[in-house]
Amino acid sequence: MPTSTHRDEGYIKFSYAHEAAPAPAHPWLHDLMRIRDDLHEWELIGVLPDGIGYGNISARIAGSCRFVITGSGTGLKFPIAPEHFCEVVSFDIAKNRVACQGPLPASSESMSHGAIYAARPDANAVIHIHDRWMFRLLLQEGAPQTPKEAAFGTPEMARAVGQLAASLPPVACMVMAGHEDGIIAFAPNPRSARDALWDAYSRSRRE
Ligand SMILES: [Zn+2]
Repeated sequence: MPTSTHRDEGYIKFSYAHEAAPAPAHPWLHDLMRIRDDLHEWELIGVLPDGIGYGNISARIAGSCRFVITGSGTGLKFPIAPEHFCEVVSFDIAKNRVACQGPLPASSESMSHGAIYAARPDANAVIHIHDRWMFRLLLQEGAPQTPKEAAFGTPEMARAVGQLAASLPPVACMVMAGHEDGIIAFAPNPRSARDALWDAYSRSRRE
């Protein structure tokens, strides 16, 4: 089982154990793919000028804290395909480590998804996007936000995301204040999470 550790992602570095396997199956996979491609067209999921991908979408595997999520380095893929997903079979926030299986490994961003699934049994879908205008608007509006000190890729960020998610309604958008342009939404299903982001997106483009 190959393992890898990413650099520059916090002092307890993200790492994963990855087992190569066929594309994961999930009853919502086609919903996830369609929504992910919409978000890619709105440039809420994509690749930064420096080549680093951003944004991902996931869904819980019913009755567990396992989930399927777009894999590491898929920001440029369009359209997305089942082989661009992986399954996170377990995660350890304190160790900043996931075990995953599928054609691709999971990214460090999967820790925040896992933190939400662990904190909220009613959350079955999570979407993480980047957008400067939505980020600014939501901060101005006083939207729920994780502390600025919680930097991306650290256990502190994952813990902060989980704690904040536990205090919010079943469908919610949170700003990751310590992760530039980062926003994360969760809901009982992928479409509701997408709609929550769409509301903020529409407001950010009107003002
Ligand atoms: Zn991000």
